[in-house]
Amino acid sequence: MKSEELFRQAQQLMPGGVSSPVRAIKPYPFYTARANGSQLFTVDGTTLIDCCMAYGPLILGHAASPIKAAITAQLDKGWLYGTPSPLEPEFARLITGDHPCMDMVRFVSSGSEATMAAIRLARGFTGKKDIVKIEGGFHGAHDAVLVKAGSGATTLGVPDSAGVLAALVAHTRQVAYNDPEALETLLSKHNDVAALIIEPVMGNIGPVLPTTNYLREVREITHAHDVLLIFDEVITGYRLGIGGAQVKYGVKPDLTTLGKIIGGGLPIGAFGGRREIMALVAPSGPVYQAGTFSGNPLSLTAGIATIRWLHDHPTTYAMLEEKSRAIEETIGNRAGGSFVRLGSMFKYFFRSEPPKNYIEVKECDIAAFGIFRERMFARGIFLPPSQFETNFLSVSHSDEDIATLIQAYTQCL
Ligand SMILES: *Cc1c(COP(=O)(O)O)cnc(C)c1O
Repeated sequence: MKSEELFRQAQQLMPGGVSSPVRAIKPYPFYTARANGSQLFTVDGTTLIDCCMAYGPLILGHAASPIKAAITAQLDKGWLYGTPSPLEPEFARLITGDHPCMDMVRFVSSGSEATMAAIRLARGFTGKKDIVKIEGGFHGAHDAVLVKAGSGATTLGVPDSAGVLAALVAHTRQVAYNDPEALETLLSKHNDVAALIIEPVMGNIGPVLPTTNYLREVREITHAHDVLLIFDEVITGYRLGIGGAQVKYGVKPDLTTLGKIIGGGLPIGAFGGRREIMALVAPSGPVYQAGTFSGNPLSLTAGIATIRWLHDHPTTYAMLEEKSRAIEETIGNRAGGSFVRLGSMFKYFFRSEPPKNYIEVKECDIAAFGIFRERMFARGIFLPPSQFETNFLSVSHSDEDIATLIQAYTQCL
């Protein structure tokens, strides 16, 4: 069956025809029959170079053989126990070893679950009510973080979804990214803030990169006001390097959330941080958190295989960097936009200057992006279907793929 017909049926059976909103490409999304390396093969017989990589997790590419071998080996031993397994301390040791600020970690099943628990934990630890997030930052699909952007630093949060209580998001305040003064002002005015949650490099409207010293200033300001700093590294963890943004920029958050890459393509999330904070998580403390699928052996084994592979191939990040640099060198500011990249995260913004925050991202020419994306698709390139999503490269993108990408960018821009 072809994509158009599959989508017609899906729309009768599932809201919007999809399992997650961003996938509802107009007029209908392509359906993937299988995937390998850097390529997606659609049910319509098309082969695409994938620059979405499932929105970040697949740093080794689709169906990567070391991960496949690990999953296959685990299958014979069962895939869900409801008891602890030796994989848990093994993976916890790996992750805490890679993140100097994480003494302990709790495994969960998604990034959303990780940020939800980290926020609860910050409130439980500090006894304070409010949280601050960065405008345009994405931390998953739970109530506390579904706040409309643009409401300004001093006003109360307004729900960005029906069904979210205004009374709840009133406790979520927002500040602009790359604006330490706004954060300082906000925290001097409000003394009931438990935590600031921030994507150290904004991945869900970006990449939007931190200006020099921004993250350090954020650390100093939150510290001075006794506010916990939560780095949401669900995208940047193991994407920017071993240890993610906190190691790259040398900033120590109090809590960290991880997901995406650490599951090797299977569902996962994790949160961790300082021992005295993590000690409050149930059953060792009063902050409740639990999950049937938490620490499930398949996700852990796929995650361990991925992280071990990255450790065993230390040139990986430099190689990925070289590939995105090659694209930048040809594309640059062609057609009046701006090409932004950091390691294997990149995007062409339809805006003359690289955006520094959410307001500036909103100035991009969305209509132009739409036309560009369709042209790229016609040339066999799958870009995430929104101007606001980061594009990703993987280890499996060959030099030939990069040459094809560069040629397609040149023609389509
Ligand atoms: C993807 C993402 C999440 C949510 O993770 P899910 O596994 O989709 O629930 C949270 N924070 C950031 C920064 C993300 O990119």
